[in-house]
Order: sequence, then structure tokens, then C-alpha cells
Amino acid sequence: MKVIRAFGPAAAVLCLALASAAVPLLSPVPAAAQAAQDDQIATSNGNLTIHPVHHAGLVLTWNGKRIVADPTAFPPGDKSGAADFRGPAPPDLILITHEHGDHFSVPTLTDLAGPNTVLVVPQSVYGMLPGALQAKAKVMKNGDKGNYAGVPIDAVVEYNTTKERQQYHPKGRDNGYILTLGGKRIYLAGDTEEAPELRNLPNIDVAFIPMNLPYTMTVEEAAKWVKDFRPKIVYPYHFMGSDVEKFKMLVGDASDVRLRKWY
Ligand code: ZN
Ligand code: ZN
Repeated sequence: MKVIRAFGPAAAVLCLALASAAVPLLSPVPAAAQAAQDDQIATSNGNLTIHPVHHAGLVLTWNGKRIVADPTAFPPGDKSGAADFRGPAPPDLILITHEHGDHFSVPTLTDLAGPNTVLVVPQSVYGMLPGALQAKAKVMKNGDKGNYAGVPIDAVVEYNTTKERQQYHPKGRDNGYILTLGGKRIYLAGDTEEAPELRNLPNIDVAFIPMNLPYTMTVEEAAKWVKDFRPKIVYPYHFMGSDVEKFKMLVGDASDVRLRKWY
């Protein structure tokens, strides 16, 4: 267990080191420009607003709730990065997919969580939280269904299927999440490949899908998966250095591919 835990931040650092060679500029996007790329999705409880923040971090606002996924500082630095995820009030719900440093940061969570914020985390992340954050946290494991902060959540598998990548995300440790927001199913894949359990995820309206090596998938693998489960809308995320235009071309008309500025 210690070996795996020690590997987490190291993997993230390596990930950043590799990517910085491919993407030399990681200039911050002005707030106004970020707001301009927010998307609105109609649900039975009003519009869902999708706000990409960076890499794997995003904010969903819906029905008066603020939902944050995988908040960290990116690129990592002295600041916690919480300001990028903050709204007029603290988040109602924070989802953490797994323990790697580009998805999970105790300083960010400490800065961001308010008195009523609920954290949803896998067991491995729970074990890394200080007591004050554990008190706000609910553990979900693969296959669990829950309703936290008024949001129905399904925890699904998130793991590498390719042998030489399994060291990064072993089966059973991490969670992807499907949220049901006003009848729309929103899927946050986290760092995964097309596992058999995910091949035919039904009725996904919006999917966030990763693509980068060696941690997740090639754009070809990601496109193949999207053509299998056909979410109505797909956002490539966690794709630093990958050719997302090629991904969009490969998906074709199987899904509405939305390219946004995550870096
Ligand atoms: Zn990871
Ligand atoms: Zn990652």
C-alpha cells in the first residue's frame, strides 16, 4: 500500500514533466475567457452549466448546486488553486476520482470545502484525508449508488486494462462517477481505459473522457470507446499533449465532440 501511495504524486510529476515538453505554454486563461466557453445543457430542473477549469478539474452548476470534480492547482505550485473552483458560496459537492496529484490535493480541498460541503471519495483517498476533511467525506466503491448533496451518484470502475499501464490505475482502487442531474446522465471517467464494464454505459448525455499516455488512452483508443457507448456529447479532458482534433475526426458523427481550453 505504501508503495502505491508513494507512486501517486510521482506519477503526477512525471505526467507533468512529459507534458510540459509537448505543451510549452500553460498560460492562465482570463476569467472572462473561461466564462465564454461555459456550456449550457437543458435538464428537467433548469440548465446545467459546464465550466472546464483545467486538466481534469471542472465545475458543474445545476439547480442551485455547485459541483466540483478533481480540484487541484494546475500546474502545481505554491497556491492551492482553490480560487479557480470557487463560486459565490462553497461547493455543495466535491468528487475525487483518485489519489494522484493531478486529481487530488489536500491543500486545495482544505481551502475549498465549506461547512456544508460533501466530499465523495474512494477509500484510498479517504485514508489520505486529515480528520477535518474525513468528517465531510463519503466513501463510494465501484458499483455503489448514492445520493449526496441531493445528487444521485453511481460510482463506476476506473482502471487501466493495458498490462504495462496497470501500475498507474489498478482495478478497484479508483472511481469514475455518473451523476444524474435533472434527468441527464453526466459521466466523469477519471483516468481509465475502456474497461469491459464501461464498454456499453447506457444513456450517457455528457461524458468527460481522458486521453494521454502512459496513464490513460491514445486518441484512437478513446475514439473507439466513444463509438462503442455513444454519449450524446463528449468532452476530451486530461489530454495534455494529445491530438484532440484527431480524436474528434475519428469519432465523427458518433457523438458531439466539444473541444475546450483545458490548458
Ligand atoms: Zn491518475
Ligand atoms: Zn491523471
